Amino acid sequence: MAFISAADADKNSYDVIVVGSGAAGGQTAYTLTMDGAKVLMLEAGRNYQPATETPMLQANGEAPLRGAGTPEKPFGFWDATVDGGWQVPGEPYSSASDDPARQFVWWRARMLGGRTNHWGRISLRNGQYDFKPHSRDGLGFDWPMDYADLAPYYDKVEMLIGVYGANDGLENTPNSSPGVLLPPPKPRVSDLLTRQRAAKLNIPVIPGHRAVLTQRLDHVRLPKLLHPGNAKAQKILAADMQKRAACFFATPCGRGCSIRANYQSTTVHLPPALDTGNLDIVTDAMVRAVTKRPDGRAEGVIFIDRKTGAEHRVKARVVVLAASALESVRIMLNSGVANSSGKVGKYIMDTVGAGIGGQIPLLEDMPLHNEDGVDGFHLYTPWWLYKEQLAGKLGFARGYHIEFGGGRSMPSMGTAAGMEWLNGGTYGRKFKEEARRYFGSFMYFSGRGEMIPNDDCYAELHPTQKDKFGIPTLNFHWKWSKHEIGQAAHMQTTFAEIIDAMGGRMPSPPQPGEKAIKQGGIIIHEVGGAMMGNDPAKSVTNSFGQSWDMKNLFITDGATLCSNADKNPTLTIMALAWRASEHMLGLMKKKEL
Ligand SMILES: Cc1cc2nc3c(=O)[nH]c(=O)nc-3n(C[C@H](O)[C@H](O)[C@H](O)COP(=O)(O)OP(=O)(O)OC[C@H]3O[C@@H](n4cnc5c(N)ncnc54)[C@H](O)[C@@H]3O)c2cc1C
Ligand code: SF4
Repeated sequence: MAFISAADADKNSYDVIVVGSGAAGGQTAYTLTMDGAKVLMLEAGRNYQPATETPMLQANGEAPLRGAGTPEKPFGFWDATVDGGWQVPGEPYSSASDDPARQFVWWRARMLGGRTNHWGRISLRNGQYDFKPHSRDGLGFDWPMDYADLAPYYDKVEMLIGVYGANDGLENTPNSSPGVLLPPPKPRVSDLLTRQRAAKLNIPVIPGHRAVLTQRLDHVRLPKLLHPGNAKAQKILAADMQKRAACFFATPCGRGCSIRANYQSTTVHLPPALDTGNLDIVTDAMVRAVTKRPDGRAEGVIFIDRKTGAEHRVKARVVVLAASALESVRIMLNSGVANSSGKVGKYIMDTVGAGIGGQIPLLEDMPLHNEDGVDGFHLYTPWWLYKEQLAGKLGFARGYHIEFGGGRSMPSMGTAAGMEWLNGGTYGRKFKEEARRYFGSFMYFSGRGEMIPNDDCYAELHPTQKDKFGIPTLNFHWKWSKHEIGQAAHMQTTFAEIIDAMGGRMPSPPQPGEKAIKQGGIIIHEVGGAMMGNDPAKSVTNSFGQSWDMKNLFITDGATLCSNADKNPTLTIMALAWRASEHMLGLMKKKEL
């Protein structure tokens, strides 16, 4: 089994159809195929092979506009997103409001592996509080599970994909089991200074957690832990782990990693799943709808071959939607299934984002040294004000973590621009001297906060608009509540205090929360829209992502999340997908599916 044509897919029979090949689809297909299930994966984007397509070592100067972003390549010329972005040609979406503050923007990656080819690899676990937020403060919804239900799956995902970090035992910031995490990279100078000065403000700074191999995976120990009693899976995984190199600390992860040192579905989940012989993949396969059997169960899906425009129907015992939260919502709404609760499309969430940059004189004119490290944070700050919040001192609910960065990474367009606020503007020799002096002395602090689901944030089918395939599109409604705006305001004052404590300066003063908060969708952490729960009247699925209405329909992407904790969602999506897939396998073995 391998990459096959749309026409060949019609002829075969499968246990499970998985729609989408990103974090959720990749994890689902991996877990199912390693245990023997025959899986057909349908991916709307084109085939993409990181080993041959990743522009890892190209300099920005070699690219048009020196690699700067354009509407077609918003994250720069070399970015791994070969198809997709804020707009996908011929596949529009809309917002119900003309007010930019109430509009939602939607990033989509149309390619094998989805957004995992580019993502930031920040891999934080939800903590105990994050599963019971309503019980703590009366807002939002509790999950139909506890941290203890998901903890073993966090361990499994971390061992499989490779996550660096440390166990610091801070409140609501869970430890991984011993032997799970890889060692964190050494802090950069800017990290050390931040940690030293933040400590004076009682703000913790600890090693970050990211899906990057700081050393090779233990191919002897880990396969046995991940697939006990399954010799075939152990052998495949052991062989595959040996093909993944450790990070060499030099290139931008957002372009992807041809040596497979970071997590992309295309480099970590799909190769071993294909090696089982149990996975077929059809790319350029745009799923339009789930089809129904006469008994009300899912029969299969209808998809459109993007290359020919032809429509195909495929069938399986189980259908899994893993097309990214809002695409899965769209498929459900277009199919008219799984919505007896009326909750499909409701309670969509993003992450709260706001940031401030500053210039730190102490970091000027540093002796030349290589501090590239892994391309992303080495240290970060988890939310630290639980007690103050419980005591009612903050004026908003929930919290945020801080991602910060500085140092001298590969210069790109804009690296020496915007210095005028420091030196009043220079040119010629003076400009070059100043560029060298200031290069590496800029730091940026970004807050990533929890959004509480609310009634004003939902997606519905647009009454008339259709995409180029004739599929109805999504129309978004959006409104931040006072809690998210309060977080953004708190981020601004806190970051200004940290920069001040570092002896730094800022181009402009901190903004009020309403101005500082990023537009909905900008952080690209959208989840929700098909919430899990204990009550079929109030939720779309059970805690395994299994539809209440259609027992053989599962959703394994972020659509089922009941809250969007400040922790970036992808590790949780993968842990849920692993858990859901094990449940599916169990039901299939019992012939209940
Ligand atoms: C720049 C950036 C940085 C990010 N950084 C982080 C981070 O540091 N940490 C973190 O936790 N998260 C991060 N994210 C978010 C992360 O990428 C997503 O949470 C994650 O990829 C979600 O996985 P998914 O499988 O649900 O969706 P995706 O990865 O988007 O995959 C969905 C796939 O389904 C396909 N698809 C869609 N519709 C259909 C259809 N109708 N038929 C067939 N196929 C379909 C798509 O083409 C796509 O390949 C980041 C995202 C971006 C873009
Ligand atoms: S920094 Fe490391 S993980 Fe990232 S692309 Fe470069 S080698 Fe790969």
